[in-house]
Amino acid sequence: MVELRRARSRGVEVLSKCFNYSELNQDWKAISWQSNDAVFPLVVLDGMIYWYGMPASKMAPPTEDGLPATTLETPIRITGFNTANMVWTLAKLDQRKSDEAAQSLQEKHGSTGPNDDGKAAYGLAGYVKEHEKCPKCHGYMTMARNKRGTHYLRCLRCGNVEYLTKQTVNHYMSVKYVRCPTCGSTMSACRGRFGVFVMCDKNSRHTFGPDQI
Ligand SMILES: [Zn+2]
Ligand SMILES: [Zn+2]
Repeated sequence: MVELRRARSRGVEVLSKCFNYSELNQDWKAISWQSNDAVFPLVVLDGMIYWYGMPASKMAPPTEDGLPATTLETPIRITGFNTANMVWTLAKLDQRKSDEAAQSLQEKHGSTGPNDDGKAAYGLAGYVKEHEKCPKCHGYMTMARNKRGTHYLRCLRCGNVEYLTKQTVNHYMSVKYVRCPTCGSTMSACRGRFGVFVMCDKNSRHTFGPDQI
């Protein structure tokens, strides 16, 4: 876990899907998604190296009886872009499936609050997808970003475009108990030159984009 956290702080995307989210500790919850298609042990590094079974590592969580968590007698290691890419596609590794709904894995930011079950959409983007409807056709909206870096909402059905408002961001932060990732304070949405961003209520140098919360 220490290595994973270190990798994350260097900007490496670390994701995992699992069967038993509620039994995880907080560290693992922060990077894991509940998924009912997490049925075999597979570790993927950089979309290039695949381990079927756990690679020998101090990272491997021990099993209940304290033994190293090697599910297969001989873990299999595959290296190579084309093979790795095929496994990726066939196994739909970039998606998680829970309650019949398939969603893409995305890095978790912010917090889903006390009712985090690992299934709920994460972050502001997930919140938009679940709660914002297109005013023209009532289709689902998705959060997108233009070339200038401004975030906006786009209808997945008719393509209608709407502003991402401060109200939407503030509402999301209040219902999901989102706090400043740096110091833990409450935050407020502000409008700047490049659209809405979020500023910490305690320290104005703690600012974050809509895709970081
Ligand atoms: Zn629409
Ligand atoms: Zn702060």
